[in-house]
Amino acid sequence: MTQEHAEVLILGSGPAGYTAAIYAARAGLKPVMYQGMQPGGQLTITNDVENFPGYPDGIQGPAMMEDLRKQAERFGLDNRFGLATAVDFSTPLAHKVIIDENKEIIAKTVIIATGASAKWLGLESETRLNGLGVSACAVCDGFFYRGKEVAIVGAGDTACEEAHYLSKLCKKVTMLVRRDEFRASQIMQERVKNTPNIEILFNTETLEVLGSDGVTGVRVKNNVSGEESVIDVHGFFVAIGHQPNTGIFSGYLNMDETGYILVEKGTSKTNVPGVFACGDAQDNVYRQAITAAGTGCMAALDAERYLAASGSH
Ligand code: NDP
Repeated sequence: MTQEHAEVLILGSGPAGYTAAIYAARAGLKPVMYQGMQPGGQLTITNDVENFPGYPDGIQGPAMMEDLRKQAERFGLDNRFGLATAVDFSTPLAHKVIIDENKEIIAKTVIIATGASAKWLGLESETRLNGLGVSACAVCDGFFYRGKEVAIVGAGDTACEEAHYLSKLCKKVTMLVRRDEFRASQIMQERVKNTPNIEILFNTETLEVLGSDGVTGVRVKNNVSGEESVIDVHGFFVAIGHQPNTGIFSGYLNMDETGYILVEKGTSKTNVPGVFACGDAQDNVYRQAITAAGTGCMAALDAERYLAASGSH
């Protein structure tokens, strides 16, 4: 196992990670970033971003992440592919992070910007057909089902937004809602209810995604009548929320019951000195690109102040 030292190690490359990198690099802290599982983060699987200040005409998610990457690299970010696979946060100013199981980085400070990932139902058929008609990203994969019928499971804002997006491409969208009501905001509910080619099935649980080398349908059960039925679809979308990517930090960092890292109020400080968290890994409320970027800035400033206070910079 090779070993290297870093002043500031940033894990994750979404808006939080890159903003932390821009601030840390401009402060002369020579940050090293490992981009993680999904370089560029969740925005790389989005299309239009219209609510990030500074883009009056909107921008495509992947293009925005390219801009952030270039901006951070302009100030000297050491930007690398690789995934943190284990950590040891027991030695202050010498936190250990294993990358891809073959490299150890010993970092004075660590900025966690590992984000969150889509949740799945946990059905065997869903896993088997993932990428063969099962998807957690309508914007990425909706195009493949143009003119076809699809189903989407979920009842939050994401499910409504994605159902509406799919309704513009697909012949028909069936929304599978497990309770007798939505969780989504009123405006999003109205939008799907008023879209003629979206059918909403309440009290409906997904039992199985059907098909062998592609999705042919979905077997569902009405939770009130107990009746089972099959809906013929070519695409099956899952939009039931996200899980923070924080598993490797458990045992060291305080987290809530879902795995979101707890930070000291108004800061990015975790319970371990020198370890800071930003973006969706610590935010289960706002989860926006702009709030992620804001907390990334906080993490870099907190890391800089911590290094200065410890006489390390
Ligand atoms: P949410 O946690 O808000 O909603 C998840 C939905 O999935 C719930 O309706 C839940 O059902 C359902 N669900 C969970 N597990 C299952 C399961 N096993 N089977 C069937 N259904 C299941 O997640 P979202 O991703 O929708 O939203 C996250 C946050 O982002 C929210 O705060 C949301 O407001 C925000 N957001 C805002 C947008 C906007 O304003 N434009 C767009 C997208 C997101 P149940 O209700 O029964 O628990």
